[in-house]
Amino acid sequence: MTIDRERLAALAAEPHCHGGRYRNLEPVPRRGLGDFLRWQLAPGRRFPKGKRYTLLRPDVHLLIDPPAAPQLTWLGHASFLFQYRGLNVLTDPVLSDRASPFRLVGPRRFTPPALTVADMPPIHLVLVSHNHYDHLDEATVRQLHRRFGDNLRFCIPIGLRRWFEKCGIQNLVELDWWQSTPLDSKNEAFCLPAQHFSGRTATDTNTSLWCSWLLDMDGFRFYFGGDTGYGRIFQVIGELFAPIDLALLPIGAYDPRWFMAPVHVAPEEAVRIHQDIGASQSIAMHWGTFALTDEPMDEPPRRLRMALERQGISELEFRVMQHGEVWSPE
Ligand code: ZN
Ligand code: ZN
Repeated sequence: MTIDRERLAALAAEPHCHGGRYRNLEPVPRRGLGDFLRWQLAPGRRFPKGKRYTLLRPDVHLLIDPPAAPQLTWLGHASFLFQYRGLNVLTDPVLSDRASPFRLVGPRRFTPPALTVADMPPIHLVLVSHNHYDHLDEATVRQLHRRFGDNLRFCIPIGLRRWFEKCGIQNLVELDWWQSTPLDSKNEAFCLPAQHFSGRTATDTNTSLWCSWLLDMDGFRFYFGGDTGYGRIFQVIGELFAPIDLALLPIGAYDPRWFMAPVHVAPEEAVRIHQDIGASQSIAMHWGTFALTDEPMDEPPRRLRMALERQGISELEFRVMQHGEVWSPE
């Protein structure tokens, strides 16, 4: 399927940065400190109990010498190793014990990451969706750069260049929504919208962009959804890029809905995204690793299963992987 470049250019020309802050394409309610406290201090609020999942140990031989088919390894949360046609790609690699600026406080990891940087095959590309701590981890980024040096390229949304340069990283592809760049003669990376927000400190809210990524690998389309609420953008992404061969879509961090719905999909909405973007195969992510929000940690896959059943979609078409599982389509 050819890509409508004129439409992409027209979309890219629409402004979404105002006064140095990025905005979602569809207006979403702003949640301030008052809302945050209303959520945190709600009477009867129950904190989800952390759950530790069985961690499978990936077969290192499979990672070093992957099959011809695409191969995916779930490292936990939004971190995957995707391998296809000689390219080894990481999505939002976070291997630390906490998704936090601090070593001792902040959301703790309940299941260890399936790989350390030392265990990894040579990584060529990292896709970063945004700068929240559960997606961008300084310790992991520095370890990756130390091990793979300037051969490793980071695809980042606009506004994060300075952060990466401070880590000593120069091999950067920094893109705005709807922009793309060729990675080599066969592969092209597209920075696409998501409906979310960004920030690592009290003052930097939305000063860098959030995004999803699509890799077009000589016609094979791999989509990484990042963090997102549900919006019309997914129909547009579908119009431009369907069919998508393999999509990683978030299913967790959705409760309470009054607070989270604009920025985090529930499993039912993840299924709508799967349909909107024309994914032939989706994989669930962003659950079962850090307890970030109020839903029980094991609820997202159960709700996903029910949503798939209601839509008449096979569980094999929108798979839930186990921590450390290495998966390839049949
Ligand atoms: Zn986020
Ligand atoms: Zn997240």
